[in-house]
Amino acid sequence: MDFEPIASLEQTRQEFRSWLQAHRSTWAPWASVRHTEDAAQRVEFLRHWQRTLQGDRWVAVHFPENLGGRGASLLEHLVVQQELARADAPPLINGAAISIFAPTLLVFGTLEQQRRYLPPLLAADELWCLGFSEPNAGSDLASLRTRAEQVGDTFVVNGQKVWTTYANQANYGLFLVRTNPSAPPHKGISCLILDMESPGVTVRPLREITGDTDFNEVFLENVVVPATNLVGELNRGWEVILTALGHERGTLLLVDHVRRKVELEELHRWLRATGKANDLLVRQRFAEFWTEVTIMGLHGLALISDLQHGRTPTNVSVLKLYGSELAQRFLDFAVTAQGPYAQLWRGDLRVVRDGAWQHAWLMARAMTIASGTSEIQRNIIAQRLLGLPRS
Ligand SMILES: Cc1cc2nc3c(=O)[nH]c(=O)nc-3n(C[C@H](O)[C@H](O)[C@H](O)COP(=O)(O)OP(=O)(O)OC[C@H]3O[C@@H](n4cnc5c(N)ncnc54)[C@H](O)[C@@H]3O)c2cc1C
Repeated sequence: MDFEPIASLEQTRQEFRSWLQAHRSTWAPWASVRHTEDAAQRVEFLRHWQRTLQGDRWVAVHFPENLGGRGASLLEHLVVQQELARADAPPLINGAAISIFAPTLLVFGTLEQQRRYLPPLLAADELWCLGFSEPNAGSDLASLRTRAEQVGDTFVVNGQKVWTTYANQANYGLFLVRTNPSAPPHKGISCLILDMESPGVTVRPLREITGDTDFNEVFLENVVVPATNLVGELNRGWEVILTALGHERGTLLLVDHVRRKVELEELHRWLRATGKANDLLVRQRFAEFWTEVTIMGLHGLALISDLQHGRTPTNVSVLKLYGSELAQRFLDFAVTAQGPYAQLWRGDLRVVRDGAWQHAWLMARAMTIASGTSEIQRNIIAQRLLGLPRS
């Protein structure tokens, strides 16, 4: 593994750092907008920010130039994402769609689909959601039951999805549907692009423990989808989905690590400013977290090294499992360190950092579930990395 920074990547890093600095006035208000109760205001701010980024083609530098990218490498894209996190600048509003859906469309989409959907997705002019999970199909996604029947040159879709992030904001969604109910579970699934404005689509937001409503139930009743919205081959959607989930786990995790490092530095400043850093126990716990986040960074380097050399990354499940559980422990510490102030919420007069750690602490409950639960990651590590037999 190479520990030295790669020269071409460092050049991209410096160029983007300067760009961020020059556009600071556009993103600086994020420090307060991020905590607003007004979800519409937050979404509008993020859309505007992403348009600015895309104006200079920074959203997906690894995409082809004719589709809004710079024709750069995936590693350069990761560097840009790392710098966004490091500066504590606003994230991409549709980061998941860019990390999961967009690369999938690059591999499996037709040229028309790529030209139609990718440029507005990168500029956040159109938002996307991913309709995979169902009430009885989460970890075992292949048992999904949402049905799509071919009628002439359309599909008619009936069923229900759940936990569909941003379905209440999205213009389009990539939906997994069963197109051949008599085939074995993995073989009769297809992927469809669904216009969320179509008649028969009902979106019901779910209120989360944080009070936000990012997740949704999506009900589909006789929704007519043009056959041209099929992504990949009919009944071979499972291959499409494996590509999509591979992207999700790999690229999102690396960015997550940088965000953790930024949070850690912020906690460090706060512990010193409040004098809590003088407590020996606090110092010891903090040093442990610093060590663990550094270890995560080394796992991240191994992942980058694999990607750079075109190898299939081997440690994605380790990174996902370790990173999500570390985030929960770390945020637990950040909240506990506040003592009685931990009970305050954003908007309270004496709340620490406008309740950002409280919000993140609650949200971190979801991290060990999203994109593959901890139990599923342990199964993968046991079977694929350690070669242990199935239970
Ligand atoms: C923050 C967040 C965002 C999400 N966004 C989306 C989205 O945009 N689109 C979408 O489609 N879905 C989304 N999801 C859903 C997510 O993909 C599922 O929650 C996840 O796959 C787990 O499925 P489930 O909730 O049905 O749990 P289940 O699969 O029912 O699991 C329940 C419990 O059983 C355990 N379990 C299940 N199978 C096994 C096994 N074989 N061995 C050991 N233990 C097992 C699990 O680990 C878990 O503890 C999101 C979830 C979260 C938390």
